[in-house]
Amino acid sequence: MDYNKLYIDGEWIKPDSQEQIEVENPANREIIAKIPSSNKNDVDKAVNAAKRAFETWQYEDLNKRIELVEKLRDEMINKKEDMASIIMDELGRSKSFALNPQVEPYIDAMSDFIDIVKNYEFERNKDGYKVRKEPFGVVAAITPWNYPLGQIIKKIIPALLVGNTIVLKPSQKTPLVAYTLAECFDKVGFPKGVFNLVTGAGSKVGKMLTEHKDVDVVSFTGSVEGGKKVGENSIKGIKKVTLELGGKSPAILLKGGDYELGIKKALNTVYNNTGQTCSAFTRLLVPEDEKEIIEKMVVEKTKKYKFGNPYSEEKIVGPLASKKQFDKVKSYIEKGLDEGAKMIYGEIPKDSSKGYYVGPVVFTDVTNDMKIARDEIFGPVISIITYKDKEDAIKIANDTTFGLAGAVFGPEIEAKEVANKIKAGTITINQGSPTHKAPFGGYKHSGIGREGGVAGFEAFLQEKAIFS
Ligand code: NAD
Repeated sequence: MDYNKLYIDGEWIKPDSQEQIEVENPANREIIAKIPSSNKNDVDKAVNAAKRAFETWQYEDLNKRIELVEKLRDEMINKKEDMASIIMDELGRSKSFALNPQVEPYIDAMSDFIDIVKNYEFERNKDGYKVRKEPFGVVAAITPWNYPLGQIIKKIIPALLVGNTIVLKPSQKTPLVAYTLAECFDKVGFPKGVFNLVTGAGSKVGKMLTEHKDVDVVSFTGSVEGGKKVGENSIKGIKKVTLELGGKSPAILLKGGDYELGIKKALNTVYNNTGQTCSAFTRLLVPEDEKEIIEKMVVEKTKKYKFGNPYSEEKIVGPLASKKQFDKVKSYIEKGLDEGAKMIYGEIPKDSSKGYYVGPVVFTDVTNDMKIARDEIFGPVISIITYKDKEDAIKIANDTTFGLAGAVFGPEIEAKEVANKIKAGTITINQGSPTHKAPFGGYKHSGIGREGGVAGFEAFLQEKAIFS
């Protein structure tokens, strides 16, 4: 496919900008595409198209909007293998990991979002007045590279269903699947300008969007660092802003709990996307007098994950997504050793000349004040931290600047009691497993706002009080 194009106002156009950005396959370092580094004219065109489209889209019958999103979902089902192949190449996933969790759950989420909006009351009678919910206007959706399709879907589908229009800027590292999504929009025949795609770096194109006078909402998912800048710029222009940021989530194994289950679930979150999942349970909190047994279990289970070339076999965990990630994760592993943590499985990654491969690393004897316990490493690195008693476990779990997710494995009543005291936006208890029907987002530095669930729609609606 020729990627030197943008999708604006219902058609593919050549960018005004002559600059391009290379997209690299992290599994072999081949350059697989070049995308436009959009300039101000390109961004203006996209925002103007979205603004014009909003004039009619906001009043479009809800059933018509739902019908179009259903058609989009069906077209995406037709294209799901293509999208998975693209994600294999741009993110370094094996085919099965590209399909699930990268593609299929988000196509399913579209059906959940449709169900939510069908039952949503846009007007509510109150005591002597009415509250009416109305869309904002143009939404700039700025997304990260780690779930290149999913993070887009979580923003744009609720935003569109309630009558906003979109300018999407995907991550410049994994922008290609967004092109296939734009093709689906094109095929389905959404009104011109309802969905627009621009590409480029965050510091340039993302910044232009956050500063654009005709952007009404900035919906951002990414790093805390990026979120701070996006938040600042958006607030300067009095825009609504939502921030979905990073995490350093704890999984607490309580005495008497199912350790097998807890370790399996924690390791899946830390390893399956090579550690590049915002809600991964990277801190494993374990009772101090059962540390040795748990360490052995963690190591034995870690050995079962196959890391390597994602094209070589199914269910193999691929490389990190970029050189930046490789260097960052490597330096954290070194830092962990310097800080006195004990590496009981894994090694310091050596060479990235043939791809950004990093195997799983298990650290024990980690204390919660170490950098490896405090910072989001975003690699396949898990830290075992001991606690003395339940209160100590809660204290350690909450002793973090983040608050995205957490998990508790233990006897039901005690596990619920502990879960209620964890300061995080999503908690799983024992067999529990999150879905997109529920809100997702962070406490503390993990963000402002929610995606998914009813709250994920309300992020794109403002309230009008009507007295009559
Ligand atoms: P990032 O902050 O570098 O970039 C995210 C997006 O924002 C990209 O599209 C980027 O181009 C753009 N951007 C960067 N700086 C910008 C600026 N100043 N103005 C406007 N746009 C800007 O993050 P990343 O490395 O792509 O993603 C990884 C991070 O995302 C991790 O911290 C991860 O935890 C987080 N994340 C959070 C969630 C969540 O739902 N909470 C989900 C996925 C990823």
